[in-house]
Amino acid sequence: MDPEFKEVVDFHRHLCLDIAVGYRVGKALMREMKDEIKNMKEVIALVGNETCALDAIQEVTGCTFGKRNLQLTHLGKPVYTLQNTNTGKAVRLYCSYWDTFDHTELRKRKKEAKSPQATDEQKAAFQKLTEEQIDTIMAAPESDLFSIRHITLPAPPIMGKYKAEPCGVCGEYVNVALLTDQGGKQHCSECLQ
Ligand SMILES: [Zn+2]
Ligand SMILES: [Zn+2]
Repeated sequence: MDPEFKEVVDFHRHLCLDIAVGYRVGKALMREMKDEIKNMKEVIALVGNETCALDAIQEVTGCTFGKRNLQLTHLGKPVYTLQNTNTGKAVRLYCSYWDTFDHTELRKRKKEAKSPQATDEQKAAFQKLTEEQIDTIMAAPESDLFSIRHITLPAPPIMGKYKAEPCGVCGEYVNVALLTDQGGKQHCSECLQ
């Protein structure tokens, strides 16, 4: 296994097809950004959905939810974008690999391997099929996996810093934008009925 891919798998803590796709996505985004990633402090990743692929994208790009340079756009589709927030220059990638992917055999083998009565042969067969399909993803031409566009985007809102006030019910401090007035009292989402 490619040592850099192995690091990604170690971070993700299991081997799956989507982590391999995410690895290819992350590598392609970084390469296509060229000089726009000279200063990674200016770069953010915008991700359209939540899948295993995100762990690979975080590892490869260094953009993470914790650092707030990874933002979920809720597009509900596998669109992954790296953007230089200074220049607005961005690379947008749509992952098309799953559009026509036939999951039938993998799902069947997985079901067998995860059943309480699974034999060693069934477990090995699932592992082997997973590894074969990962090898296919790792060797596939990029055009089989995704399409890439170079675009320019407006600067995203600055994340992370927010004004906090106490909830009128539980007293816990919460982002003021997320407080709701109910009966003349500010409510956090947890206290709102
Ligand atoms: Zn996974
Ligand atoms: Zn509350």
